[in-house]
Amino acid sequence: MAELPPRESITLHGMRIDRVTMEGTLECVASYIASGRPHHIVTADASMVMTYREDKEFAAIVDQAALITSDGAGVLWACKRLNLPVPPKVSGVDLSAMLVELSGKKGWRVFFFGGAPGVAEAAAQKMRERFPDANICGFRDGYYKPDEENTVAEQIAATKPDILLVAMGIPRQEKFILRQKERVGAKVYIGVGGTLDVFSGTVKRAPVWMQRSGLEWFYRIASNPNAARLKKLAALPRFALLTLTKK
Ligand code: UDP
Repeated sequence: MAELPPRESITLHGMRIDRVTMEGTLECVASYIASGRPHHIVTADASMVMTYREDKEFAAIVDQAALITSDGAGVLWACKRLNLPVPPKVSGVDLSAMLVELSGKKGWRVFFFGGAPGVAEAAAQKMRERFPDANICGFRDGYYKPDEENTVAEQIAATKPDILLVAMGIPRQEKFILRQKERVGAKVYIGVGGTLDVFSGTVKRAPVWMQRSGLEWFYRIASNPNAARLKKLAALPRFALLTLTKK
């Protein structure tokens, strides 16, 4: 399959976001896997837009991404407010679940990487119960010493993944992807934040009414207010202010 042409995109506070649906994203995944080359998919939420503005190394990685989807109510709200065409929502959790669901039928090998010890394993077990033909080729936690990173990447490479879900939070996961994508040898890399915590049941998803009204981020912070989440929370008023004061 040939690689797909570039998509229509918008620029939100300097960061590109592609106007791509879930269906379009899955077509891209299929073409990336067929190409045999590494591709990075980014799912962008409001806190990521702020990190993009403040961390040059992170911004350079995002600029190189094959695809940037819109993940979250904050981005959709800002687009509406700024009269930008609103991109469809393709969240990291929904995309990851879809890829696992399709993995058996498509023959895609998916690796779960990240989260506290035991979380990736529990996530794999839960997803195999949900999708019995899921093709999960391996899992490991996201806690190791910096000098162990190459070894960790080699261990992942040995399982021959097509898709690597990296659940270590922004920007750690994106920087891992940049450094290790050639060594790991997968074709699709996605930084998926707390997705394995959700899959494993360690963190519950917000009630559907909260997901629909764009309040899932609030539920997740309120149900587990650790330092990383609070930092993320602090980025949101800055994102809102930036949006409201944009000329
Ligand atoms: N994490 C990890 N390794 C680390 C630090 C964090 O695997 O060195 C995991 C952590 O256990 C959690 C995830 O990264 O599962 C971060 O989730 P969060 O929802 O905060 O991510 P973000 O919103 O930044 O994408």
